[in-house]
Amino acid sequence: MSWTSVIGQQRVSDALRRTISTERVAHAWLFYGPEGVGKRAAAIAYGKALLCEQGGEEACGACSSCGRVDRMVHPDLHMLMPYPSDADPADIAERIRLIGQNPYAAVDFVRRPSLDDPTRSSNKQALYTVARVQEEMCRAMSFQPVEGRYKVAVVSDAEHLRTDAANMFLKMLEEPPPKTVFILTTSRADRILATIVSRCRRLRFDPLTPEAIEQALIGEEGVAPELAATLARMADGSYTAGLDLAKNEDLRALRELVLDFSRAAYSRNVGKIADIVERPARFGRDQVGHVLELLLRWIRDLMLYREMGEAAALVNVDQAEAIAGFTERLPKADIEAMASVIEEAIVLVRSNVHVALTLTVLAGALAEAMRGPHSGKLYMPLSDAYDGGDASLGRTG
Ligand SMILES: [Zn+2]
Repeated sequence: MSWTSVIGQQRVSDALRRTISTERVAHAWLFYGPEGVGKRAAAIAYGKALLCEQGGEEACGACSSCGRVDRMVHPDLHMLMPYPSDADPADIAERIRLIGQNPYAAVDFVRRPSLDDPTRSSNKQALYTVARVQEEMCRAMSFQPVEGRYKVAVVSDAEHLRTDAANMFLKMLEEPPPKTVFILTTSRADRILATIVSRCRRLRFDPLTPEAIEQALIGEEGVAPELAATLARMADGSYTAGLDLAKNEDLRALRELVLDFSRAAYSRNVGKIADIVERPARFGRDQVGHVLELLLRWIRDLMLYREMGEAAALVNVDQAEAIAGFTERLPKADIEAMASVIEEAIVLVRSNVHVALTLTVLAGALAEAMRGPHSGKLYMPLSDAYDGGDASLGRTG
């Protein structure tokens, strides 16, 4: 990691670089801002620059110190994360190795309790205990740097310092050992003791632009440009979210499902609706809610496209053709009504109403809305519904 591999965040990188060139490196930093925008990446890049044998404001990337930071084995760089009390040390080591490979990877215990199964959740609390603060921060940081000019500790997700642990950490911050640099990262600065916050130099991280995420997905991950553009717009400013979407093979299938559902609803193809309604219903409420949100994004794209045509900044850019097709073929569709019935369905699905029933009713309401407020055709014989009215909704790529 060096500044060039921190995505976006120019203001932040410039500020950190300046502290090195002007020799005003703070003892304690608080990097705060939304999840997945590069706080940890910038912390590691900063630590790497501070430890680099070349001693410039930029890590050289070639010396043995830089190499060891990349492999996360530098004795003067401590990468800390909260974890449950029964965490397996081999698992922790693996997570830290993965951070070295990609500091944006979602490999922390809070968001990813199991590395093997990204969908698994856990009710175990990830935290920093008093014992860990004592051992990994107070003791480890009290020694002279082994090689570099500094000792650096990256305390990620610092809001997970329990009150007693936070108080112990605070004592050390009041009299920091020489040549130490603590970098706390958090997306919940409001949960950090005010006395700790006031002892840190604070640096705000903003959400990334879709363009920055898109370029990084293409450049760093080899994601196809069209898909990268879509994922970048769905990622809400978080590169970590973009990465997760890129690696989630289910996502494309879900988006296909959304289109199938819209087509079947339009054609009132009862058999097909029943089949599609069965599929997400098997996944559980969260997943169904997710599918409906994708559908809502798709509908919002329709609104945009109808307003602005080719100039619209669509979320589903790789489905632009299907969206254009829909708009041409269904000029009377009441898109606002489509959006509101879906919003309503999302609320119902999340509040314990029968999922398959909700989706079936939604299909009917969507069909009405797609035909427009004055279609005059409220009833369609079932036989019509079966003969492939699908064609009117265009095809996806
Ligand atoms: Zn170096």
